[in-house]
Amino acid sequence: MKLVFATGNKGKLREAREILGPGFEVLSPAELGINDDVDETGTTLKENSIIKAEAFAALSGLDCFADDTGLEVDALGGAPGVHAARYAVDIARRDGAPLPADHDFSANIDTLLRELGKHPGEPRTARFRSVVTLRLGGQLHFFEGTLEGRIAYERSGSGGFGYDPVFIADEYPQCSVAELPEDVKNAISHRGKALRLMARWLQERE
Ligand code: IMP
Repeated sequence: MKLVFATGNKGKLREAREILGPGFEVLSPAELGINDDVDETGTTLKENSIIKAEAFAALSGLDCFADDTGLEVDALGGAPGVHAARYAVDIARRDGAPLPADHDFSANIDTLLRELGKHPGEPRTARFRSVVTLRLGGQLHFFEGTLEGRIAYERSGSGGFGYDPVFIADEYPQCSVAELPEDVKNAISHRGKALRLMARWLQERE
């Protein structure tokens, strides 16, 4: 089955292909010659994943899915949440500091560790939450997954992407997600859970 994955994130694309396996042909917008960027103007993960799925289905004319992921840190009242991709920018703006680029993974991690450092003694519990929107034949379908864990005090590992170097999953408390082999991350991850639900749903309706 051919599906467009509405993302420009190579890490997400690699993971989705591994998770969905050979029964799915997962195409990126770039592979279809589509290089448009979509503004994620929603206030929830679901809204943003709908915006991306609708936009790239329209641009490609194909069935399409999108994922939007948030990081909820309990000691920060659930921040950065849906704003995880631009956390460093939001905090720099709040503090009147020079603005880093959007989607700067390293600046986002620096900001997260700095903000959490202001809450000594509080639990560092956190979770990734993914909402996947599948747009199939014009209809929308939703699938969700979470990964519980905590935020480390410093980075470790070079795998994965985004906040993985500072996220310690409950299932593997001795290392960061960036130190796990990709298939191990995919077996427990928020995106893995949501995409396997989508794959099962698609297979059951065949
Ligand atoms: P979005 O879903 O692309 O908007 O992702 C929001 C933010 O969360 C971005 O900064 C991503 O890098 C980060 N992120 C998304 N998925 C993961 C993941 O699996 N591990 C670590 N960071 C992630």
